[in-house]
Amino acid sequence: MSQPSLLASPIEYIKGVGPLRADMLKKELNLYTFGDLLNHFPHRHIDKTQVTPIAKITPEQDFVQVRGVLQSIDIIGEKRSKRMVTQLRDETGQLELAWFQGINWVQKNIQEGQAYLVFGRLSFFNGKAQIVHPEIEPYVAQASSQKSLLEPVYPSTEKLKSRGLNGKQLGKLTQVLFQQISVRDLPENLPDYLLKDKLGRWEAYRQIHFPSAPEMYKKALSRLVFEELFIAQVRLNLIKIDRHKNSRGHKFEKVGRYFNTFYNQYLPFELTGAQKRVIKEVRQDTAKGFQMNRLLQGDVGSGKTMIALLAMLIAADNGFQSCIMAPTEILAQQHFANLTALLKEMPVEVALLTGSTKTAERKRILQGLLDDTIHFVVGTHAIIEEVVQFKNLGLAVIDEQHRFGVAQRAQLWKKNAVPPHVLVMTATPIPRTLAMTAFGDLDYSVMDELPPGRQPIKTVHRYETSRASVMDFVKTEISKGRQAYYVYPLIEESEKLSYEDLMQGYEQVKSFFPEPKYKISMVHGKQKNIEKQTNMNRFVSGDTQILVGTTVIEVGVNVPNASVMVIESAEKFGLSQLHQLRGRVGRGSEQSYCILLSSVKASREAKDRLKIMCSTNDGFVIAEKDLEIRGPGDIDGTRQSGALNFKLANIINDRQTLMEAKELAFELCEKDPQLSSPENAPIRHYLQSQKAKIGWGKIA
Ligand code: ADP
Ligand code: MG
Repeated sequence: MSQPSLLASPIEYIKGVGPLRADMLKKELNLYTFGDLLNHFPHRHIDKTQVTPIAKITPEQDFVQVRGVLQSIDIIGEKRSKRMVTQLRDETGQLELAWFQGINWVQKNIQEGQAYLVFGRLSFFNGKAQIVHPEIEPYVAQASSQKSLLEPVYPSTEKLKSRGLNGKQLGKLTQVLFQQISVRDLPENLPDYLLKDKLGRWEAYRQIHFPSAPEMYKKALSRLVFEELFIAQVRLNLIKIDRHKNSRGHKFEKVGRYFNTFYNQYLPFELTGAQKRVIKEVRQDTAKGFQMNRLLQGDVGSGKTMIALLAMLIAADNGFQSCIMAPTEILAQQHFANLTALLKEMPVEVALLTGSTKTAERKRILQGLLDDTIHFVVGTHAIIEEVVQFKNLGLAVIDEQHRFGVAQRAQLWKKNAVPPHVLVMTATPIPRTLAMTAFGDLDYSVMDELPPGRQPIKTVHRYETSRASVMDFVKTEISKGRQAYYVYPLIEESEKLSYEDLMQGYEQVKSFFPEPKYKISMVHGKQKNIEKQTNMNRFVSGDTQILVGTTVIEVGVNVPNASVMVIESAEKFGLSQLHQLRGRVGRGSEQSYCILLSSVKASREAKDRLKIMCSTNDGFVIAEKDLEIRGPGDIDGTRQSGALNFKLANIINDRQTLMEAKELAFELCEKDPQLSSPENAPIRHYLQSQKAKIGWGKIA
């Protein structure tokens, strides 16, 4: 139908690029094709007419553009504190420019007495305005006939800059590119009825690179941001619709003896409202005959494990086996112990299968799964190994989803001709906006309610200098019969160092809590599994009062009697990690505490993080803040999904547009899931042209 687009042409075919520069563009910026360059957007435009007189600069201005003549260039200080300083003077005053890096290179390229156009972020040093590391270029008076006043500047790299491809020179390439392509290469991909007040696609691309006026840039940006979000939402909706309509799934027709017996006789507590709601959702999903693919988000301690168990019992009532996968051996072990205890009066066979399961036991389990004498299996990723075959796998529960890759999930589905229902449980609260963007193809449940009787955890931030009084506090808690965690960061890059820190910390804790009065266990990633488990179990059973560990205890561990969590070097942790760790306490009815120890020298940002932790226990609030601070790319488990790698859109700043796009995409997909109506042809053609990337073939 459509001819191959020029946009797929290799970047070396842009006039003036050639193999050498093409190589650099590929390596440095991942630009391989015409289309890649077209989608390498300017991060700003220089408007040479917008120059601020230096005397008019105010502290409220963030960025300024000034024009003036360079005064004497001075190099001050030596070695590490070396800097280059100069004054830029215009008719109204002068402004300091400073460089701390790349001094030699900059110095070669600027000259005293010459006029320059300078752009950069204003800072104030001793009350005086200055620009550190400004963008600077010789000032050339503009001819009044010049068409575009806005010159694009693109993200570039030091290496490219030194080879003549700085932010502006990349713009020259883009200009050439626009001479080589035409409107045919960028056909409209949005239906007409969405375009009313929006620029067309070709026009939007032209204007975002080379705007004819600042308002046009805004219009172009808003159109392309909308397009990006809208298309993503359409895709996710289509995948979901396809699954609901076309993917066969086991039909769990009834709730029977297993579920009812357990519910009426062995359920140790009343379910929370949220738990009841979610189990109902699961029940409905699995009764339809289509595969369930549900993401269950619940804050730490909200009781997700019980949902898993109830769902597994429904599977059993319908003659199906279930598995539950945990990200770590400790957690798998704990789930197993938990399930075994809860089910001890029930005729349900539960097995534990992990990397350290002994051969004979392993054999027994594999056989049991094949002949359906084992109903539930708990394990680590060992479960998804090829040799593990089920007679009749009906439900797979994946706990703490962010540790499992998409590929691993897919492997589970291959276990049966008809894929099992999948329930993904995550304790990393993801803000709603993000969840619907990243996991829009999954159905989605939230448990936003904690079991009754929980007291909010009291969180405080203390400097390491007051460690002794913190230890005293822990002592009083232990004397009341409680238990405590001490967590140390273990950072991969400097693992050796941190490992020593951990040992030192262990010794320190030991000196505060001497044996035999106190007993301490320690877990860390370098221990053998068996050692880890023994130590963990001693803490779980109350044999030791203190558990010293690394973040291996982050996920899922449940010891309701533990009431204190001390986090050492808390400034080294991210917000969501701190929240996970804190979630290990506050699981019983006693008042629990989380003490964040940091160095006095911790950065401003780190202290802000700790302040947030002290101010709220709400995982969703923390997740929002985390997103604001770090940006979506860093949220666990979403980076590799690629779902959030937007070029232009930012799901925080463009939240409004995202909601709009989501609604419109939903409507469109409901009305025309095949995209067969003539008005939706543009989007159908576009998605088909991208088929290879998304497996659209299933739908078209
Ligand atoms: P998470 O959602 O973090 O996985 P868990 O499933 O480990 O939480 O549950 C945390 C604790 O709360 C466990 O000790 C569990 O037995 C308990 N719990 C779960 N649901 C309830 C409930 N409805 N009422 C009281 N306690 C509950
Ligand atoms: Mg859990």
